[in-house]
Amino acid sequence: MNNEINFWETKSLDEMSDEQWEMLCDGCGRCCLVKLEDEDDNKVYLTNVACKLLDLETCRCSDYSNRIDTVSMCMDLKTELAEMVDYLPETCAYRLLYKGNPLESWHPLMSSNPDSVRDAGASVNEFAVSEEAIHPDQVESHIIASLSDDSE
Ligand code: SF4
Ligand code: SF4
Repeated sequence: MNNEINFWETKSLDEMSDEQWEMLCDGCGRCCLVKLEDEDDNKVYLTNVACKLLDLETCRCSDYSNRIDTVSMCMDLKTELAEMVDYLPETCAYRLLYKGNPLESWHPLMSSNPDSVRDAGASVNEFAVSEEAIHPDQVESHIIASLSDDSE
């Protein structure tokens, strides 16, 4: 069991154990929303369509151990964080720590309350629809933001 107090403040991401690494995920589900790339200008857009493997009740992956092999859009943050960090939500613990920022006050590691993510409105459970509930042609109509504006 993890018994290192505030390890996220004292260790680098590379120094964390696998257990500590997994504890960083707040379960918001935001990285599991489908992104679309415009082939004309390479801009990337975020939708409110959730990966078919995201359980919208718990906002956790329903097949976490096989996710990378099963879902092509799934990110392996352990190996891809540097390349993918700007596509993660600004509140994501991995992004925050990678960029040298503190965790959000509502992160369960800070609040000691697993419900604080939802209470803060950071979870996708309120607005996401499952990929399985819509036709693939409809995904474009679910765009909610551009991810390219800040990275240009
Ligand atoms: S955005 Fe970050 S904190 Fe939220 S579910 Fe994805 S990896 Fe976890
Ligand atoms: S496979 Fe799991 S972790 Fe990966 S995007 Fe889908 S729900 Fe999220």
